[in-house]
Amino acid sequence: MQYPEPISKLIDSFMKLPGIGPKTAVRLAFFVLNMKEETVLDFAKALVNAKRNLSYCSICGHITDEDPCYLCKDERRDRSIICVVQDPKDVIAMEKMKEYNGLYHVLHGAISPMDGIGPEDINIPDLLKRLQNDEIQEVILATNPNIEGEATAMYISRLLKPTGIKITRIAHGLPVGGDLEYADEVTLSKALEGRREI
Ligand SMILES: [Zn+2]
Repeated sequence: MQYPEPISKLIDSFMKLPGIGPKTAVRLAFFVLNMKEETVLDFAKALVNAKRNLSYCSICGHITDEDPCYLCKDERRDRSIICVVQDPKDVIAMEKMKEYNGLYHVLHGAISPMDGIGPEDINIPDLLKRLQNDEIQEVILATNPNIEGEATAMYISRLLKPTGIKITRIAHGLPVGGDLEYADEVTLSKALEGRREI
């Protein structure tokens, strides 16, 4: 069936989102057509504003609307410990737990030779720069408990061994193959508590 061009464009746009197939895209497009114009405008503005006003923190790589981000700026946080995660969403999951008070470092991915992603393609060089600071005493590797996450944790731990900094890996209360961001707060908190030195 042929849709009028504005609708097919909208359907195509929805299909660019993860997890949205053709059927859902059609349903969403028609849902938008029935929304109040004002609501649609707010929605469109929210999309553009999020894209325009957010960038990555130049220190930790977390998503932010100010640089450095609020976490890096916060003087009450423990500056001797850095938790390394794959994704800004993992920082949010960790923060929700309200138990961790150190700093973060967001890699924006994981090492994956199959996909041609090497250590230089993720935020590892910046992590090394940050560790030249004498204040850092512990690095917690909180990459995802799947093949790529484990490979990344192993790579970083080997790289950091000569520095003498304590390196820990979060415990495996986390479901293997899962993503950190989907872990519930209790599981994540247990994983952090049970971290072991590697
Ligand atoms: Zn930051």
